[in-house]
Amino acid sequence: MPLTGGILVMLLALSFVAFQHFSSRESPSDKSVEQNEDQASQYQLSPDVVAAMNKAESTGNPGLGIRADGPNYHVPVLMYHYVEHVKDRGDTIRISLNTLPETLDRQIQTLTQAGFTFITPKDLADILDGIEQLPEKPIILSFDDGYKDFYTDAFPILKKHGVRSVQYVVSGFLDRPNYLTSDQLQEIAKSGLVEIGSHTEHHLALASVSSTVAKREIDNSRVQLEQQLGLPITAFAYPYGSFKLDTLQLVKQAGFRTAMSTIPGSQIGNEGRFFIHRLRPGAASGPALLSLVEKSN
Ligand SMILES: [Zn+2]
Repeated sequence: MPLTGGILVMLLALSFVAFQHFSSRESPSDKSVEQNEDQASQYQLSPDVVAAMNKAESTGNPGLGIRADGPNYHVPVLMYHYVEHVKDRGDTIRISLNTLPETLDRQIQTLTQAGFTFITPKDLADILDGIEQLPEKPIILSFDDGYKDFYTDAFPILKKHGVRSVQYVVSGFLDRPNYLTSDQLQEIAKSGLVEIGSHTEHHLALASVSSTVAKREIDNSRVQLEQQLGLPITAFAYPYGSFKLDTLQLVKQAGFRTAMSTIPGSQIGNEGRFFIHRLRPGAASGPALLSLVEKSN
């Protein structure tokens, strides 16, 4: 069902509680990455983005990939971070961001049995560009941050079910403890099951840094991943879901075709391809998961 930009803005405004301002650091510790990512579930669009969307609606000017008309698709994108059995039971932040491997397994079973088609951001970009048809019941499984447990715990489950997904990697964190190694990333990318996307070079909150720094973070991550993998990298995800109007432009100019936010929802139109909404599945499976992904919002 088509949604006008105005209704979209209203829905967004209703969904959001508080705009998060995140401090940025060149090399944040794992703890700060995790904590802020969790807080990003409470999210509000920056005023310049809202103003641009309102302007696009009144003028019909597409600009920036933000436009008032055009098709709107129901494409739920599930957001995951850790997938493991957390060893340190005192690490409440990691536990709160974690999905147990058996939960992921059950969720994929639920979705497979219900006839969902697992697509990737490249497919979504092709659909939005009219190159590919929207498949029956599309869904995207998205994993953020490039944690090591994606290789040890999630990837075997994805292979077992033969389902596709996307992993958003922080290019400057590769080969650090707790993160994927370059070799693991190569193997994952070569499997054909996992699209590799960029999640910046150092996991900075892009709305809080200068345009120069944001551009460097966005461009470097793409170049580094492309050099490492020898593949085009066209999918982006904002660390902490943090962006402003200027950031959308930088992501578009860098050659990315889509960008994931942490805004809750599952409607995707051309106007929103640079801030795609996502859902947090938690531990839901069976009817509870189906009701989450089938809900139109
Ligand atoms: Zn992240």
